[in-house]
Amino acid sequence: MHAGEGDRPIDWAAVRGDFPLLQRQVHGKPLVYFDSANTGQKPEAVIAATDDFYRQHNANVSRAVHALGAEATEAYESARGKLARFFNVRPDELVLCSGTTFAINLVAYSWALPRLQPGDAILLTRMEHHANIVPWQLVAQRTGAVLKVAELLPDGSLDLDGLHAAMTPEVKLLAVTHVSNVLGTINPVAAICREAARRGIVSVVDGSQAAPHMAVDIAAIGCDFYAFTGHKMVGPTGTGALWARRAHLEAMPPFLGGGEMIKEVRFDGTVFNDAPHKFEAGTPNIAGFVGLGAAVDYLDALGMPNIAARERELLAHATEELGKIDGLRIHGTARDKAAVISFAIDGTHSHDLATLLDLEGVAVRSGQHCAHPLLQWLGVGTTCRASLAFYNTHAEIEAFLVALRKVRNLLG
Ligand code: PMP
Repeated sequence: MHAGEGDRPIDWAAVRGDFPLLQRQVHGKPLVYFDSANTGQKPEAVIAATDDFYRQHNANVSRAVHALGAEATEAYESARGKLARFFNVRPDELVLCSGTTFAINLVAYSWALPRLQPGDAILLTRMEHHANIVPWQLVAQRTGAVLKVAELLPDGSLDLDGLHAAMTPEVKLLAVTHVSNVLGTINPVAAICREAARRGIVSVVDGSQAAPHMAVDIAAIGCDFYAFTGHKMVGPTGTGALWARRAHLEAMPPFLGGGEMIKEVRFDGTVFNDAPHKFEAGTPNIAGFVGLGAAVDYLDALGMPNIAARERELLAHATEELGKIDGLRIHGTARDKAAVISFAIDGTHSHDLATLLDLEGVAVRSGQHCAHPLLQWLGVGTTCRASLAFYNTHAEIEAFLVALRKVRNLLG
């Protein structure tokens, strides 16, 4: 569980100092990193934990009886335990994997593929990331199921009445993001999953953009599956997990076969390991999970409620100031919003904006953000996206605004 209630004074400038990369310059300017929705920067503690693993403990997990093997296994399993506490779930319900994309594909191939059939439907929302669209299209093609899409209100929030109305009897599975990576919208996933469960619909929540920014209590959400990615939670790339109810994990067949996921292999048949190991074939990203364990410790020490409060403050500051720039439009103005700001400036292309901002040391993302159907709804080819994290500062927002005005004048 998370420490802190958003009421403890924290020296945020010192927190920024924990991140070595944030101290560097880009094009001779101090770096302003506003691309945390893409990937988070890493604090010294995470880098040190990964480094220490390779220097002192490196060995494979679960295979060796020697001391290093035991230490590596202990370190890897300890990360699972930390993640379980962080998300308020059981460790044996967490499948460690490379990230959200893998986690959702695991549900698609192992839960949905054997179960869905013609006449069934999978319900998605307009704001899903491709990682929560394409796996379902692939499953639909192979099973004869169809996709249904719940639409949005003009402010970029989900049309909840429409979503609930779309939960018709043929819908067997609902896939919904907790937080939109383009609009920043925070969806009321607990209420949505409750409605789904009342209708016997299994729910999958994409938590990639929620886990780094707010206290996530998966048990309280009441979904069937929750996927998240470690690299957005200040942890290493190639880490993440799928949480699933134990009953689902026990009923699901393995997704990948190989070492680690078996108890006994004979040519006439194999006995699989118990879940979650049944889904963890091959050598995992051991050092990565050691780093992710350190990331969870780091986030927990700050307190997720403190992080959420800090990011709300940064979002309010940036939103208010951006609103003063002529011709600037923000895509996504839902009341409940994470610190993700997609914007456009009349008469400029987002790639030009992002390229010129980069020359000022400001890293924002320009593009379609792996959300083509959402961009189609917005009626734009691309957007510029500034995504903030707790390690950003008000001074960086000011530097961004100065750079943005300069760039706008150059382009305009
Ligand atoms: N879903 C959302 C909402 C995301 O923002 C992302 C990452 N951009 C993903 C899924 C995919 O995560 P990963 O690439 O770590 O698997």
